[in-house]
Amino acid sequence: AARPRPDHQVAAGATADGHPVALLANVGSAADARSAADLGMAGCGLLRTEFCFLEAATEPDEDTQRAAYREILAPLEGKPVVVRTLDAGADKPLPFLDMTGEPNPALGVRGLRLAADRPGLVERQLAAIAGAAADTGAEVAVMAPMVATPEEAAWFAERARAAGHPRAGVMVETPAAVMSGPDLLEAVDFLSVGTNDLAQYMFAADRLSGSLARLNDPWQPALLRAVAELARAGRDHDSYVGVCGEAAADPLLAGVLAGLGVTGLSMAVSAAPAVSHALAQHTHDDHERAARDALSATGPDAARRRARAALTPSA
Ligand code: PEP
Ligand code: MG
Repeated sequence: AARPRPDHQVAAGATADGHPVALLANVGSAADARSAADLGMAGCGLLRTEFCFLEAATEPDEDTQRAAYREILAPLEGKPVVVRTLDAGADKPLPFLDMTGEPNPALGVRGLRLAADRPGLVERQLAAIAGAAADTGAEVAVMAPMVATPEEAAWFAERARAAGHPRAGVMVETPAAVMSGPDLLEAVDFLSVGTNDLAQYMFAADRLSGSLARLNDPWQPALLRAVAELARAGRDHDSYVGVCGEAAADPLLAGVLAGLGVTGLSMAVSAAPAVSHALAQHTHDDHERAARDALSATGPDAARRRARAALTPSA
């Protein structure tokens, strides 16, 4: 079996038999970006741009945004970075967006939906991101949060192209988006599964509710089946389909997700060494077997048990 890599060599990510699985960082600050680069991670699969808006009472202008993004992109020069446009609303309220008065904020105007009410918001952000990409030499792709339909994906892709972005993708966080995987991939270049919100919406269970944590368990077989469907759509379209929710940070689950066919995993930097090590312990066939076993479980605990049995650590 492969030896654990030292921390400074997380590298690009691969199974024991060399099947590549991109190990990417979820990043929200320049410090995160530097840690990811220092660890040798392949790039960034989710740059949460909300940080730029957290304190702002009004929308930061294009130059302010560009400077903030530039600082985070700089350490990732030459690496792929997926920059997500503003994801606010529901569990992420922002002072400059007046979102009060929605009876069901989780089902309200959030993520990409904000753009409909606020002409120019997405366009200005896409321009600032393009500027920061040009300033730094990071290989930037842009991604929209909270997309439910192929029309929304096409709407976003059109604006991304107009701003000069070579690649655009969307997050899959709603059951409708899961059911439309192939159509989404006609509209955009890649998908990234946000398992935190996807679990919340598939199971109709608030992601912040401790008493509903079991429903939001990323080992729920129904959630794994959704990921399997999307990975299949990705294979059919020869497109990147990754996971960027917390699920990707669980070393055992990371192997199962790789076995389901996802081509990248994006996680908190602190989780990367353990995930990298776990992936390198087993072959792609092993991961596929573990994934098959987990998929046919009837609950999260059984799925975990089955995966663990299939991926018995090699001393
Ligand atoms: C997700 O929903 O899984 C995700 C990665 O986005 P966030 O946690 O920022 O909502
Ligand atoms: Mg989300």
